[in-house]
Amino acid sequence: MRSRNLEKWTVERSVELYGVDNWGGGYFKITPDGKLGITPFPGKGVCVPIPSIISGLQERGLGLPVLLRIENLLDAQISLLHDSFASAIKALQYSGEFRGVYPVKVNQQQQVLEEISKVGDRYNHGYEVGSKAELIAALSFLKNPKACLVCNGYKDRDYIDLALYACKMGFLCFLVLEMPSELPLILDRAKALGIKPRIGVRIKVSTQAGGHWAESAGDLSIFGLSTAEVVDVLDLLRGQSMLDCVQLLHFHLGSQIPNIRDIRTAVHEATRMYAELAKEGCAMGFLDLGGGLAVDYDGSHTNYASSRNYSLEEYCTDIVESVMATVDEHDLPHPHIITESGRATVAYYSVLLFNVLDVSRLENRTVPQTLDEEDPEAIHNLLEVYNSLSLKNLQECYNDAIYYRDQMRQLFRLGQCSLRQRAMSDTIFWAVIRNIAEKLPEMKNPPSALKDVDLALASIYYCNMSVFQSLPDAWAIGHLFPIMPVHRLDECPEEQAILADITCDSDGKLDSFIDIHGVKRVLELHSVKPCEPYYLGAFLVGAYQETLGDLHNLFGDTNVVSVRINEDGTYDFIRELEGDSVADVLSYVEFEPKQVLENFRKVAEQGVRTGKISPQERFMIMRAYERGMRGYTYLNVGRDCDNPDACATGLTSGL
Ligand SMILES: *Cc1c(COP(=O)(O)O)cnc(C)c1O
Repeated sequence: MRSRNLEKWTVERSVELYGVDNWGGGYFKITPDGKLGITPFPGKGVCVPIPSIISGLQERGLGLPVLLRIENLLDAQISLLHDSFASAIKALQYSGEFRGVYPVKVNQQQQVLEEISKVGDRYNHGYEVGSKAELIAALSFLKNPKACLVCNGYKDRDYIDLALYACKMGFLCFLVLEMPSELPLILDRAKALGIKPRIGVRIKVSTQAGGHWAESAGDLSIFGLSTAEVVDVLDLLRGQSMLDCVQLLHFHLGSQIPNIRDIRTAVHEATRMYAELAKEGCAMGFLDLGGGLAVDYDGSHTNYASSRNYSLEEYCTDIVESVMATVDEHDLPHPHIITESGRATVAYYSVLLFNVLDVSRLENRTVPQTLDEEDPEAIHNLLEVYNSLSLKNLQECYNDAIYYRDQMRQLFRLGQCSLRQRAMSDTIFWAVIRNIAEKLPEMKNPPSALKDVDLALASIYYCNMSVFQSLPDAWAIGHLFPIMPVHRLDECPEEQAILADITCDSDGKLDSFIDIHGVKRVLELHSVKPCEPYYLGAFLVGAYQETLGDLHNLFGDTNVVSVRINEDGTYDFIRELEGDSVADVLSYVEFEPKQVLENFRKVAEQGVRTGKISPQERFMIMRAYERGMRGYTYLNVGRDCDNPDACATGLTSGL
């Protein structure tokens, strides 16, 4: 850290420090003047600096936090997926086609489905749905009769009827059996409506993949049919001469599969099952390999849970090769290959931009030279530890400092030391810790107990966002997203920081960060200058984060903005959605905003009646209350910047 200050900082060092080239998929780069830019057409030189988009938003009155959707990146990922499968198919002379589908649950926002139907059309990209509601959403955008519509999830009569009607209207719609008991209902409805169903069979594969969702596959998976159930299904259909309705085999290994070997094993097993179904007399023709294509969030290119040890090219080649080898063995025609890639399709598309509100840091207070005779012995001892600290006795000093600090806490509880004495001991204690942290790098073999001391010195950057609303997986399952400043990247980031959000929940923080060698406990950030905004971005947040987010502390949806970048480097704000107002989030939890206002009006009127406030004050108070109700749930920053003392980039403490 310290040695970094000695040399001149360069943007190349920021590229390396934040790993932009490792996780960015070629879509992001740092400009020579230290701004993070979006490069939607890799290799073409177009680069739009994110800070200029932020200015554009602010000029339009949209404050941070904002979820920025970059439409080009969604288009690019869909094209990349199809182009990669197309090359593998061509190179291996595979005779089936690739038919990707988008699993709606990964990001159900209307604009995402719309964009996918627009860009996906030329590739016959379809949808995978897991519920009636998702089917209804997908049907409103499906136009292409060659695009697949895969209906997963548990189905009731309404769901089945709708899927059958989709078949009738000429869509390539598959009703995938999740449970054996769905089959009689499907056959019953098919007969009643006079529509021939196109049936898919979802199997449990025995392959267990690594990664967070390991348990969604395997024999104990809650989804899919066991081998015995598959046999039952075949027997039932054969009895009704309907084996020709079975046209698809499906499995889903789980999301974010980091290891290509697991994918290959599962594909092989599923293809064997596909061949068996064909031998049994099923029509077949489609092999649906589910999702699982991982995103390299940490850029390490390993089988670590937030990474993947394969490229998209390898993924496609391995799949096509493996399917082909097995079906060729059985002399079967090559099936159309379906994958249900959600995460890899939409992750790059969204970036959460937010500003830092304040920084708190352990202050470097002056340690007293001498103490008072009357001060407790523990403080005297602490000061002695401070004065005797050297490279030789770090561990001992650390143990002693903690011991005496705890003694002082005990004395305070017992009423035997004053606030001032306690404060003095804290100052000395932290000075000891700071000295230890500073000396530690000089040690050849630092004791493992001291490994975390530097963490105690990390600054806390308070960020205008809610982890629960915008990055729920970071909180729920320890998911890592790349996070970095979007400007000042030509300056040395001198601070080591952890991030806290503005919910008042101790879990509302980010203290694990991507690193190609594991996980970093602190993020290098720049010192924030008074009254100058500091902007951070959380990247690759397009998958799963939006609908999982919740209303912790009633922080609602953020503002959302979509941009489309043109080939000449200009860009258009396609859509702006204002985030939730306070009234919106109150109504989500069953408050009636009008009633809320009415109740408060009564409280204010009571204040006037009892003489606590004047009628004018009542007017002002009501106006503030109403403005609050209409306002954004996040902090409005920058409005007060004509008064530096009051500006909410404040950053006064500890600076
Ligand atoms: C969630 C899910 C997917 C999406 O998986 P990704 O790893 O995001 O691509 C695909 N298929 C099914 C059945 C799913 O449940």
